[in-house]
Amino acid sequence: MSGFNFDVITLFPKAFELINNLGVITKALDKNLIDVNLHDLREYGEGSYRQVDDKPYGGGAGMVLKPEPIYKAYESIRKLPKSKTLLMTPQGKVLKQKDFARWSTLDQIIIICGQYEGFDERIRCLADEEISIGDYVLSGGEIPAISIINGLTRLLPGTLGDPDSLVDESHNSSLLEYPQYTRPLTFKDMKVPDILVSGNHEEIKSWRRRKSFERTLERRSDLISNENYKKSPQSKRIIKENNQFMKFRIGNGYDIHRLVEDRDLIIGGVKLHHPESLGLDGHSDADVLSHSIMDALLGALSLGDIGKYFPPSDEKWKNADSLFLLSKVIDLIRQDGWEINNIDSVLVAERPKIMPHIKLMKKNISEILNIDENLIGIKATTNEKLGPEGREEGISCHSVVLLEKK
Ligand code: SAH
Repeated sequence: MSGFNFDVITLFPKAFELINNLGVITKALDKNLIDVNLHDLREYGEGSYRQVDDKPYGGGAGMVLKPEPIYKAYESIRKLPKSKTLLMTPQGKVLKQKDFARWSTLDQIIIICGQYEGFDERIRCLADEEISIGDYVLSGGEIPAISIINGLTRLLPGTLGDPDSLVDESHNSSLLEYPQYTRPLTFKDMKVPDILVSGNHEEIKSWRRRKSFERTLERRSDLISNENYKKSPQSKRIIKENNQFMKFRIGNGYDIHRLVEDRDLIIGGVKLHHPESLGLDGHSDADVLSHSIMDALLGALSLGDIGKYFPPSDEKWKNADSLFLLSKVIDLIRQDGWEINNIDSVLVAERPKIMPHIKLMKKNISEILNIDENLIGIKATTNEKLGPEGREEGISCHSVVLLEKK
């Protein structure tokens, strides 16, 4: 039986000795569930020194892998019918669990590992996909390649002892896994939660679901999509069937911040000057326009409000640039396939004059949201000296957004 084929082009084949000591992967090799064929780039090097790298044209530090040896090594590999070539590069798409699932139906993955300062640009066209294992730079593509071999192999049938252990784990449902415990029941005064020893499987399941959601919200709120939110037991759910047919959702956001001394007055990312040198008070930069747009966006998908994602109790968001927070919110919205149709906002401020700054506010917001300025309406009004805005105790903003499912 021939297993899943990994063909790796590398200057350091020895690095792959590690996979002979990696439990599940080693077993998969022994059982011929996978074949790992290493293609030593040095063997395809040029001249008596087997040269594989050279100085970059145009100057600069370090050496770059030459194209010819990589091409030669690549051409020497027998391609199976369902084969994909992955190029390891920090400039690639960041690896996700769903990529492993996608690739696990192939027969072969060819992995090209870079080294030194990287590789000649002309080898990029060999790759079906360019993959990064994270936003950091390693010295070579070997560890990324081993990560791919490892992550993919454990998904192949027959590799893991208990296939069920694949079902619940982190990232499968884009949620992180719930907390796990094993014996002893009490360790250094830390006790296993009672529910896990209760024997009530239904309750254990629902506890795990809740913990998984809470944990993701705490640690990786960027992973929470509308789809996940619906799985949250406590959330006000949108009925799935209905949601599938929903093309549009509307959201409404409102925010007000106090005018105080010794604070900047930032609206839509623009620093304004108040005649009494007042600014807006708040945990972040208190940008009411950005906040009301964020609330409208979250509201449109019933995802709660900004306090839930950027709690004032979290020091991380102290004096945060609200445009940055807005960029996080829009990522969340887009993750689930929604796009902004348009935004309409009204700022309520007695002073200073807002009008002269609207153009710049629109520009800032359109850049952050990556939408055309024409889709953003920003209006300003005074409150005719009535109410908190009129007495210049604060500045408020109302926003409405329309989202469209793409
Ligand atoms: N100067 C290059 C980086 C070179 S790092 C650049 O800025 O793009 C050397 C090699 O290590 C890369 O060619 C790549 O194969 C590998 N590598 C380093 N970091 C990586 C990462 N995060 N993901 C995938 N491969 C990586």
